[in-house]
Amino acid sequence: MNLTPKFLLEMPITICKTCKKCCNDVPTIVLDYYTIYYILKAIDLPQYLHLLTDIVIYEVKSHDLNAASKTWQHWFGNNLLIDLTVPDQKGIYQIAALPKTRGKCPFLFPDGCLLQDYKPLTCKLFPYVWFQNNLMITSVCPLHNQNSENGSLSKNEIEQIENIVKEYKILANKYKKYYPNLLAKLQNHFDWRMVRFKHQ
Ligand code: SF4
Ligand code: SF4
Repeated sequence: MNLTPKFLLEMPITICKTCKKCCNDVPTIVLDYYTIYYILKAIDLPQYLHLLTDIVIYEVKSHDLNAASKTWQHWFGNNLLIDLTVPDQKGIYQIAALPKTRGKCPFLFPDGCLLQDYKPLTCKLFPYVWFQNNLMITSVCPLHNQNSENGSLSKNEIEQIENIVKEYKILANKYKKYYPNLLAKLQNHFDWRMVRFKHQ
């Protein structure tokens, strides 16, 4: 099996070079299989190892998975964490993420995102989010007021988001059975912190 995932779609707005607020003040960002694989293959080099120390592994019980999906912007009409990985025998999902640090993302470099096309789904879709049963531009982005017509997205924007989510689901499902093993391998290497997800 070819284990080199390709997922090149992203919203054009996410490569805007305006305020970079989204990369300087990050929410919790779930790390997808293709992102972790890219980290492992492309930036697992001595000069980049320090970038990986902030990653945590969240343990999410199956009955909390919908809440986690909504909290981490992996809910676009349905729970995309189900596409990301599979639970262990006790029904626990282990999910790697950059925690909400209220600070700069370790992958932000002067030329932009070090992860390039392999940035996580949240970043590929940002500033578009699913909020209160609607797609919208998040209010933390200055484009929130500029790019929306009466708060609504254009047909074209909605179609692009739907295409990205569709592509994501196909790719994630293809690799989800490998996700736990990949995390275990990296957890052994980096000793990432384990955090139990608590539904607020
Ligand atoms: S917060 Fe919005 S305007 Fe600023 S860089 Fe991110 S997407 Fe662009
Ligand atoms: S992974 Fe890349 S796009 Fe996402 S917050 Fe970090 S630097 Fe920005």
